[in-house]
Amino acid sequence: MLYSQVAGQEEIKTSLIKSINNNQVSHCYLFEGPEGVGKFELALIFAQSLLCLNFNKEPCNECKSCIKINSYNHPDLHIINENGNSIKREDIDVLINSIYNKPYEANRKVYILKDAHLMTPRAANGFLKTLEEPPGDSVMILLTINSNLLLPTIVSRCQEVKFRNVSKETIKLYLKDNDSDCVELAVNYSKGILNKAINMINGNDDTLKKREEVIKIFDRIVNSDSETIYELENYFEDKKDNIDLIIEIMIMWIRDIMFVNNNMENLTINKDCIELLKTHGKKMKTDSDIIEFMQNISDNIKNNVNYKLAIDNMLLKIQEDFK
Ligand SMILES: [Zn+2]
Repeated sequence: MLYSQVAGQEEIKTSLIKSINNNQVSHCYLFEGPEGVGKFELALIFAQSLLCLNFNKEPCNECKSCIKINSYNHPDLHIINENGNSIKREDIDVLINSIYNKPYEANRKVYILKDAHLMTPRAANGFLKTLEEPPGDSVMILLTINSNLLLPTIVSRCQEVKFRNVSKETIKLYLKDNDSDCVELAVNYSKGILNKAINMINGNDDTLKKREEVIKIFDRIVNSDSETIYELENYFEDKKDNIDLIIEIMIMWIRDIMFVNNNMENLTINKDCIELLKTHGKKMKTDSDIIEFMQNISDNIKNNVNYKLAIDNMLLKIQEDFK
């Protein structure tokens, strides 16, 4: 792998590379940031860089060490909690048993702990002891969505590296070889989470499929009368668990309608549906406050108001503002 294969996080890449070149590698790092921003990918490339026999700004991808890492088969790279379950004391005992031994073939050992906040209290205590006297030939990389969920005594012994969501422009650039309508949608619906955008494009995330479904439902709401609303109620009752996303998709749709009505088509997200946006735009009340209204409905549902009542209000409001 190469640093350039991970989108964004440029400052982090630079500082990790610098730490190797200046011989200032810490014994423990804490990578903190939301799911899907590249923590694991960068941890893996950093581990590869640490073990590569010819490292120079990028791992060489040719030495025997790189080849083993690329096939997940290097005896001095240990990935703990690969599946993101909880980290038990037994898992930490395995780490402790290996960390005080000499590396098998490299000059150091690297440990990546995925979802480090999932350490049980006993595991965390065991781990803390290792952190207090870390062997000089080991590097540990803890990954977490939130460092507040770890023992402060662990956090204070790690070098913290904070990951942020990647900008839309960076994701766009990274996905530039794909169909442009798809990229536009994935960039906007992924909210700066690169992995989510990639998954949307290769079909491992069904947000874009849901978008199509919600647009159809919105069209039905707009085109049906209050007497047939009970059919639509059933749809929303079935989709209770996804209501956040459904309302969000509808809000983005309405926002696009407003852009189309104001001759700002270039700002729309749902560019592949311009004709339908225009049709809905012609129906929309000019002084509609529906986006604010929908936002409130979404908040109310989160605060456990009567779900059916909230949905009924929403359906009636949409029909009223799109006559
Ligand atoms: Zn190499």
